[in-house]
Amino acid sequence: MTPLSQMPLETARSIRVVLTDIDDTVTSEGMLTASAYGALEELHRAGFLVIPVTGRPAGWCDHIARMWPVDAVVGENGAFYFRYDRERKTMQQRFWASPEELKRNRAKLDAIEAEVLASVPGSALASDQAYRMADLAIDFCEDVPALPESEVDRIVSIFERAGAQAKVSSIHVNGWFGDYNKLSMARTLLSDVFGMDWDEAKNAVVYAGDSPNDEPMFAAFPLSVGVANIEAFAHRLTSKPAYITKGHSGDGFAELARLLLDARRG
Ligand SMILES: [Mg+2]
Repeated sequence: MTPLSQMPLETARSIRVVLTDIDDTVTSEGMLTASAYGALEELHRAGFLVIPVTGRPAGWCDHIARMWPVDAVVGENGAFYFRYDRERKTMQQRFWASPEELKRNRAKLDAIEAEVLASVPGSALASDQAYRMADLAIDFCEDVPALPESEVDRIVSIFERAGAQAKVSSIHVNGWFGDYNKLSMARTLLSDVFGMDWDEAKNAVVYAGDSPNDEPMFAAFPLSVGVANIEAFAHRLTSKPAYITKGHSGDGFAELARLLLDARRG
């Protein structure tokens, strides 16, 4: 991981799309700071496409798509994208699974939930579970005392034994049924809504993240950035981001925004 300050100016200038994780990448210690939110807004105003790509629930994403200075949002680790068209006042939504599949998957996730809570003491249902449409989020660090890594691995293996995918963020283990992740839905969004094919996207997108559930994005986008706190997860990553910020969490995101805005101003 090269320090972000060493990104060549020409490279920084080629970036037009900012995809970013939210938790511990834009937020810091669970809070959205003025400087990180301001960074999103400045990028958006300067004409960058700004798209959070998060494990957070549909309920949150409705709010984010409507009210934040962003162009769209990918939620629940790629289960859907939402885009609010401000001129037409309409919310455009695309889900990976059909409504029938979502219902069938929920019954299977309910069974996994019961098994995890019964067999991993100290884990809990994530407090934002009620607002999720496609996945199951198990809290190991947000509202409960942090569980050791071996317990996090046990949660992951319960999902995997049931045939579900499971990804570890900085706070939750998220699991779901379906062949999607942050990357596949981000690619669908870029092509559906913004008419960008992969060749174009690859060179115009920067992705910022902080943890293992960002790995498919680090692997796919040559211009990927980890905020400094990714160091804590580095041993779990096979694909690391190309660049790393000096600042942690939201400060790291603001550092990236400053670099892009300065590069554009020339
Ligand atoms: Mg994160």
